[in-house]
This record gives sequence, structure tokens and C-alpha cells, in this order.
Amino acid sequence: MLRSALGILFAFSVAISCGQPERIADPQAFRKKIAKPKKAKNVILLIGDGMGLTQISAGMYNNSNKISLERFPVIGLHKSHSSDKLTTDSAAGATAFACGVKTYNGAIGVNQDTLAVQSILEEAEIKGLRTGLVATSTIVHATPASFIAHNKYRKNYEEIAADFLNTPIELFIGGGKKFFDRRESDKRNLSQELQRAGYTVQDYFNDDITELDSTAQKLAFFTADNDPVPAYQGRDYLLPATQFSLDFMNKQNENGFFIMIEGSQIDWGGHANIPEYVLSEMKDYDAVIHAALDWAEEDGETLVVVTADHETGGLAIDHTSKLDSLELKFTSTKHTATMIPVFAKGPGQEKFSGIYENTEIYNKLRAAYGWE
Ligand code: MG
Ligand code: ZN
Repeated sequence: MLRSALGILFAFSVAISCGQPERIADPQAFRKKIAKPKKAKNVILLIGDGMGLTQISAGMYNNSNKISLERFPVIGLHKSHSSDKLTTDSAAGATAFACGVKTYNGAIGVNQDTLAVQSILEEAEIKGLRTGLVATSTIVHATPASFIAHNKYRKNYEEIAADFLNTPIELFIGGGKKFFDRRESDKRNLSQELQRAGYTVQDYFNDDITELDSTAQKLAFFTADNDPVPAYQGRDYLLPATQFSLDFMNKQNENGFFIMIEGSQIDWGGHANIPEYVLSEMKDYDAVIHAALDWAEEDGETLVVVTADHETGGLAIDHTSKLDSLELKFTSTKHTATMIPVFAKGPGQEKFSGIYENTEIYNKLRAAYGWE
């Protein structure tokens, strides 16, 4: 009663002062309209490797015509090409998002001249934010690597692993244990070095994804010795890892966080030209996007951005397809150069509409944080 009376009073006084009663009839909407755009405290960047528009469409039709991406109010398209090829690879693609530079295929966090470029994750650490990387590939694979490592060639996995010691990232989860603790190039045991640097290091040999140490200061969890298996062969950690990670990032979170969570194997299904592989990875990743959005909506200060580095397989949904009975056809075993959708929700979301280069995602994320 008091509340509605105040509302009427508020509407009335504004109506007198500006003389446009029809535009401020709803004081709630009025306050929303005059509110300054908020900065994002936290950013969740979700990269579906190889997740082009056809993969998204197929994932949606395969899921009774529904997909988490329908919850995003802002949609854009990015131009995915690299500096030397119209079809990017995941290294140049992720380096564009992470570092804001167009570079050559195979480059990890370096520019065309192979010089290191600071990543948004490294900048976040310097600014006092918490950071994390989660993937369903090895953690030294091109997409996660480009956010924390600098290397002229994506397959220098042991060198890339060593770069994890150079940035005090709070959390990483993914495969590739052997590149840390059984290295061929040197005698270093990076798992021990991580422990000495304050990390709790866990692995799938000893602990289930449900047994991660939420009290750890910094945490590394290896989900496989090399590549984790596909979802359709039993991999099921990405959703619980996402839920754990977001809560973990939010612990003692005064300055905000940056986390990149990758659905790595949508791409591998495309390279393999296996429809079931693509569809099962899309289903797995859709649940992750849902969970991230639920978490961010509850939080209210978190920007969620979903995109892909490129499309893989030249996938088409054949005209013989029916809802829930798709005929998927591939035109390639490689990446393609089609533009890639970008979905945004949360503070700064409006920056992500339109058509722009993949490097702009880096600039837009920085702008959403309010960084100069
Ligand atoms: Mg990848
Ligand atoms: Zn690929």
C-alpha cells in the first residue's frame, strides 16, 4: 500500500517536473531507463570450438527445437579469418579473442612476428581479478593455451605447459597431465612446481570431479593424461566442472573474475565427420551454457559471452531431415570461413551486436570491464 502510494507520488512529481506523464507512467521502467550502463565485474567466456551456426541449429533441432542460446538478448557475428588464411585455426582464433591481434594459424598468444602479446587473462591477473581456464581438450591445447601461453607453434605442448607457471591463474581444469609431470624435453615436474607455487593439484586417477578441493587457494585438476574422451564415449565432467569453477572463482572475489570454458570437441566431431559426435558435444555444451547463464543471472554482475573460433566440417542440415531425425552432411574435414555467431548477456551485452572482426571480442570484453 505504502509502496504503491510512493510510486504514484514519484510518478506524479516527475510528471510535473518534465511534463511527459505518459512516458513515466511506470516508475520502475523509468528508473531502469535512466540507470547508467553497469560494468561487468565478472566475465564468463564460453568458446564452442568449431561451433558454427549449423552446429548450433543441429544441436537445437536435436534437442526438441530448444537451445540455451535462445536466452541471449544480444547476438552478433564475427569474421573469423586469421592473418594468413581465410580459414583460421583454433590457435589464431583464440589468440584473436585473448590478445586482440590477428595472427597466423598455429600462433599461441603471439603476433605475426612471433612476439608475445599480453592476454586478457594475464591483464586480469595484473589487475587483481581471479582467473580460470576449463576445457574438454588438454589444457595446453590451442584454445585454452592462447589465454596464458606465448609460443610460436601450437604443438609445443611442453613449452606451453611451462607457461602456466608464469601467471598465477587460480584454477585450471582439463586434460594433458603428461605434459606437466612426464616431460620429454626436460626433467622438470611441473605438478610439483605448481604445488610449490601454492596449487592444490588433483587428477582423475585419484579424484572424481565431485571431489575437487573447494578450499584450495589455487587449483589444477587434470581430467586425462592426454585428450579427454568424447562425450559419447563417457566424458561427463564439463557441467560439474563449470558449476564448481564458477563458485570457486566467486570465493573472496573482491575484484571480479575472468574464466574461459571451452567445449573443445565440437570441432573434433566436425573433423571426424561424425554426426553423433557433433550432436553429443553440442548437447554437453548446451547444458554448460545453461548453467553459466543461470549462475550469471543469479549473480547480476556477470557478463556471459558465447562464441566459436570457426566452423568445422562445412556442416549442412540436409533437406531430408526432420525434427529429431536429422540428416547431417559434411562438405569438409577441415575448418570453414563462415561468419560465427556471438551471444551476450549481462553488463556490457549491448557491445556485442553487429558484425565485426574476431579481434573485437577482446576489445569488447575489456570495455565491458570498464578497462581503459
Ligand atoms: Mg579448441
Ligand atoms: Zn579444428
